[in-house]
Amino acid sequence: MSLGASLPDPVQHPGVDPAVSCDACDAVCCRLTVVLMDDDAVPGHLTERTEHGVTVMARDEEGWCVAIDPRRMCCSIYASRPGICRKFAMGGPYCRDVRDIHRDELARGIPLTMY
Ligand code: SF4
Ligand code: SF4
Repeated sequence: MSLGASLPDPVQHPGVDPAVSCDACDAVCCRLTVVLMDDDAVPGHLTERTEHGVTVMARDEEGWCVAIDPRRMCCSIYASRPGICRKFAMGGPYCRDVRDIHRDELARGIPLTMY
């Protein structure tokens, strides 16, 4: 699975676990809330406003970001994906955290939790 995360340079990102790969992941990071910044250029129909007035990537009923291309299982706006997605490092601490939470919830039979 190829999503929006970056493949970090292990020299610049010593906290990255090189064994972690998007190819063997349920894309849990694309179910997280993605807050958009002023310099993000995401088409408006893929975004929504929260009750607190924050613009975020819209998600479908199952919690997936609506920018996922379900046929190819990749980010359909990869070239213009939000900055927060660009900064999300595959195998980095946050990636590993959300994977661990997801794995734990699956083991306990708990449905996916939205963040
Ligand atoms: S914009 Fe792309 S990389 Fe970011 S959450 Fe949505 S599908 Fe994933
Ligand atoms: S959670 Fe990590 S490994 Fe999984 S798709 Fe996102 S960046 Fe890739």
